[in-house]
Amino acid sequence: MSGHLAVVGLGPGDARALTPEAEEALANAQALYGYRPYLDRLPTRAGQTRHASDNREERARAAAALRHAAEGVRVAVVSGGDPGVFAMAAAVCEEIESGPESFRALDVTIVPGITAMLAVAARVGAPLGHDFCALSLSDNLKPWELIERRLDAAASAGFVIALYNPVSRARPWQFSAAIERLRRHLPPSTPIVFGRAVTRPGERIDILRLDRANLIEADMATLVIVGSRDTRVVARPGKLPLVYTPRAAAEVSA
Ligand code: SAH
Repeated sequence: MSGHLAVVGLGPGDARALTPEAEEALANAQALYGYRPYLDRLPTRAGQTRHASDNREERARAAAALRHAAEGVRVAVVSGGDPGVFAMAAAVCEEIESGPESFRALDVTIVPGITAMLAVAARVGAPLGHDFCALSLSDNLKPWELIERRLDAAASAGFVIALYNPVSRARPWQFSAAIERLRRHLPPSTPIVFGRAVTRPGERIDILRLDRANLIEADMATLVIVGSRDTRVVARPGKLPLVYTPRAAAEVSA
């Protein structure tokens, strides 16, 4: 019997941002695996079992889900946003590569979702309208020196930068260190967007200049977009300004 594993992106939070494909994969699953707050967002279905685990247990969760699917069960592993962006899809691939042969025989489907940087970008305009990159500031799985090198490279090459995992309880200082690093390359007036809990209760959007970035506390539910030299802010009466990066690069970045 060969089972099936779907790795499903739930989007940023609002049920309307869940794709019909994701909805279908969740409805068809006999067993759901995931971080508890993500599972809690989903309606309970008769006959479906739930296997909640902690945030830091991604490898173990992926292995458990694969073992369950290898028994012939239809299993879905859920991720917030997109499962391929700093999330479960890569953990599942790692387990398939290092695990028993039975894992390679499984049908595996990755169901994409709206990732946080797209949800935040859409709230403010089009900051990702030209070349951009995404970095996780978490140094759980990579050394801080590598993060610094990538920040230097991205900012000096003129990319708009989306920062995932800006802070956590175990990492109180990294975000301000990252901002300090970016200031070496970018003008003080560079726009920076903080999107907190976007599409969820408690959503908050702040648009600042890079030299004022310390006025906002980023937390684990915040996605930060740092503009490039080309990114513009358009003031509007009584509304949030529009932040966008024009489609044509204005200059060759130094
Ligand atoms: N797979 C997820 C990202 C997981 S990493 C995705 O594609 O969105 C977790 C980080 O994502 C958080 O620290 C935060 O930076 C960001 N994030 C996730 N959901 C968010 C939301 N609704 N609003 C703002 N940021 C969010």
